[in-house]
Amino acid sequence: MSRLTRSDLDALPGYVPGRNVADLARDLGIPEAIKLASNEVPFGPLPGVPEAIAEAVTTSHRYPDMGVTVLRDKLAARYGVDPDRIVTGCGSVALAEHLAKATCFPGDEIVYAWRSFEAYPIIAAGVGATSVRVPNTPGHGHHLSAMAAAVTDRTRLVLVCNPNNPTGTSVTRADLDRFLDDVPSDVLVVLDEAYREFVTDAQVPDALAAYGDRPNVVVLRTLSKAWGLAGLRVGFLVAQPEVATAIRKVVTPFSTSLVAQAAAIAALDAGAEVERRCAIVVAERNRVTEALRKLLPDVPASQANFVWLPLGDRAAAFGAACESRGVIVRPFPGDGVRVTIGTPEENDAFLAAAEAALGQI
Ligand SMILES: *Cc1c(COP(=O)(O)O)cnc(C)c1O
Repeated sequence: MSRLTRSDLDALPGYVPGRNVADLARDLGIPEAIKLASNEVPFGPLPGVPEAIAEAVTTSHRYPDMGVTVLRDKLAARYGVDPDRIVTGCGSVALAEHLAKATCFPGDEIVYAWRSFEAYPIIAAGVGATSVRVPNTPGHGHHLSAMAAAVTDRTRLVLVCNPNNPTGTSVTRADLDRFLDDVPSDVLVVLDEAYREFVTDAQVPDALAAYGDRPNVVVLRTLSKAWGLAGLRVGFLVAQPEVATAIRKVVTPFSTSLVAQAAAIAALDAGAEVERRCAIVVAERNRVTEALRKLLPDVPASQANFVWLPLGDRAAAFGAACESRGVIVRPFPGDGVRVTIGTPEENDAFLAAAEAALGQI
C-alpha cells in the first residue's frame, strides 16, 4: 500500500515535553504540583519583558522585521561579534534544524554524544541524515576523542553539547582544543551552549570567546533558559559570515516573531538581573547535588541548571514515585533522571520526594 509520509519516521521517538503541572495537580487532588522537568528558570519573566510584549502586541498585525536588525545589533554588541555572523531563530532547536538542513544531504552523517539532547536524533532524521551516536564516558560526559575518531568522509556536522543535557557534565578547554584540532576543517562543529550562563568552572570555555574565530565552528545559544524566554522561542547562533548566509537561506521566513524580538531586546537590558538569578540557581544546584550524593553517591557534577541521577533501570520508577508526590521530573527510562533546579522551596520538596522515592523503588 502506498503511504503519505516517510516510513523512516515511524521508528523515530517523538520529543517528550515535561508533564503538565495543572493536570498532575488535578489528578493528585493537590493545590499545586512542581515542575522540574524542562530546565526552565523559576523566577518569571525578567523585568521590562511583560511591558515590551504588551507594547509589541499593538503592532502584531504586521510581519516582524525579517532581518531582526535591532535584536541582532544588541546581541552583536553584547557578545562582541559582527551582526552579520548572527542568525536568530524560533528557539535554538530550530537553528540546529536549520544547520542540519544547510549541511546534510540524505545519508550524510551527524556525530553527537549519547546520551545528549533528545532533539538531536530528531533533527538528524528530519533531513534524512544518519545519526552517529558516540557513547558517553563512564562519568556521563562526552568522549571527545571517540567523537573525533567517529568522523568519516560522510560526516557533515558534529554536535557538542556543553554543558551536556541531560547529564550536566562539561568539557574543558584543553579537551575541546584538542578535539577541534582533530576534526577536519571541512566538517562543521556546533557547540551548543544552551546552559552557558550557569557555568562556573573556569576550565569550561566560553565558545564565543575561545573558538568564535574558527571557520568551522558555530556557537548556539538560547534565551529560553537563563534569560527566561522559553515560552517565546528565541535562540541565536554565531557563525562565520558565509555559513550564516547559507543558514539564513533555509530559515523559515519571519520565524523570530515580532513579540519574541521585542521580548528578547527587553530581556537583554536585564543582564544584571540574569546574573543575580543564575547565582541563585548555581548555589541551589550545588546544594541539591550535595544532598543527592548522600542518597546516590555517583551524581555527576553539573554546570547547568539541572542535575542527573544515573539510576539506570530504576529511572522510570523514580520518576513515577516523584510524580506521585507532586514533583514532575524527567526520567529517561533505562538510563537516568534529569531534575531541573527550581526555587529553594521547590528543591526542598524534590529532595524530600527523592529520599522517599529511593526508599521505595
Ligand atoms: C533547552 C536546550 C536548547 C534550547 O532550546 P530552545 O529551542 O532555544 O528553547 C538547545 N540545546 C539544548 C541542549 C537544550 O537543552
